[in-house]
Amino acid sequence: MKSIPQSWTGKHVSILGLARSGLALARVLTAKGAQVLLSDQRGPDQLGDLPDQARALGAEVEMGGHSDRLLEGDVLLISPGVSIYAPVVQQALERGVAVAGEVEVAYRLCPKPLLAVTGTNGKSTTCSLLQQALGARSRLAGNIGIPLVSEVSGDLTGVDFVVAEISSFQLETVHSFGPHLAMLTNVTADHLDRHRTMEEYVESKARLFAYQTADDWAIFNTDDPEARRVGEWLAQGKLPLWPHYPPPRPGGAKLLHYSVLHEVEHGAWLQDGWFWVRLPGEEARQVLRWQFPNLPGPHNLSNALAACLAALCVGASSQQIEHSFTNYHRMHHRLEEVGALAGVRFIDDSKATNVSSVESALLTYEEPVVLIAGGRDKGLDLDELGQVIARHCHALVSIGEAGPQIAEHALKYGLKAHQRASSMEEAVEVAHALAPRPGVVLLSPGCTSFDMFQNAEHRGEVFAASATRLMEKMEER
Ligand code: ADP
Repeated sequence: MKSIPQSWTGKHVSILGLARSGLALARVLTAKGAQVLLSDQRGPDQLGDLPDQARALGAEVEMGGHSDRLLEGDVLLISPGVSIYAPVVQQALERGVAVAGEVEVAYRLCPKPLLAVTGTNGKSTTCSLLQQALGARSRLAGNIGIPLVSEVSGDLTGVDFVVAEISSFQLETVHSFGPHLAMLTNVTADHLDRHRTMEEYVESKARLFAYQTADDWAIFNTDDPEARRVGEWLAQGKLPLWPHYPPPRPGGAKLLHYSVLHEVEHGAWLQDGWFWVRLPGEEARQVLRWQFPNLPGPHNLSNALAACLAALCVGASSQQIEHSFTNYHRMHHRLEEVGALAGVRFIDDSKATNVSSVESALLTYEEPVVLIAGGRDKGLDLDELGQVIARHCHALVSIGEAGPQIAEHALKYGLKAHQRASSMEEAVEVAHALAPRPGVVLLSPGCTSFDMFQNAEHRGEVFAASATRLMEKMEER
């Protein structure tokens, strides 16, 4: 494969996918003097004002398909939404065209060390915990919503670190991306409609560690079998090869682990309610006591331990970390309490789109839970989701395309009560009527939102608005 240009002036850059990251790339690279061609297979009626925005930057736009010109530039940059198995990308790889993504470009432009987090679940929460622990010295960007390339090419005066949430899709196209600190929270079944196998999904996560150097940190959650396995690959110098892309750098980064279950040699662990840390060449030390109501559930304990370890690696003090955890600004749509009515709390966990995140949510509450679940299936094991629901739920209200199938599996495993709802408003009413007092109505859908909503945020907002409407209606009576 050809190499990626060192300088962008006068270079011909093709960008595949006209959405947030494609537009961000076009903005940054046209400003650096590149000639940009943006291409999207969607037609003008599906792209809104995005083509106009791109043209205003001086980029050319082609819609409704891809011309051969796309493969004739100096580099083809693909959006994370485009699979590397898309025929046009495969064609480019076979022809030896340099194929990269926004994260690789951002890495090359970033003047500050990057602290990167990947994993199936907990990326956003761990990144935001880490960023808040580092405070004004840091910025937060990436898969969390702000394109990394935009953040790193802005004004970073006074900023020491950029915290970056990185998805497996973004890792498919890295050539040299070597963050100063890289962390893997967990890998459980997800996105198998896009990655061809679970093994390939795990291997894409491993690419976060492929190009680090001995000055960098590599951190793994040893409680998660797949994350632990990737750590072992790194320790043994056996990170997987990726066709068409440079092989992993030999040597690799300093290896750390974290565990809420047992002590680790180097890294962080939980013991008698305290976080302990031992960095290489140092004695073990007690860092802080785990007592943060803002961070409910066993999964957030793990996320906080990860963020604490990462923050200590880059020089934060334990006081700083403790203070930031105590005042942690929780993220929307992740176990967010949006109201309460007659002893029943309404919890929006709309971001839970796989089995393990639904299970984490269900393990968080002591009260009986009526779960609202369903939506568009993305190739998950719905049988396993059914088992989890039957094991932990008082009742299920199913919604969306996959709702009936999820309910069928849950009933097979002994779920006692199920009702079907055709809208979120109906689901909230039915769930509230089914809930014991005290109890919880939990939206933790285990599916994507696209059958009924624009995205997961929209689904969470409709849930919260439905809960508010129900509360107002009951008050009027
Ligand atoms: P991501 O950015 O990886 O999607 P988030 O922090 O946004 O992760 O959380 C997404 C969903 O996963 C939420 O429902 C949240 O409660 C759940 N979750 C967060 N951390 C974990 C974890 N460590 N293990 C399992 N589920 C988690």
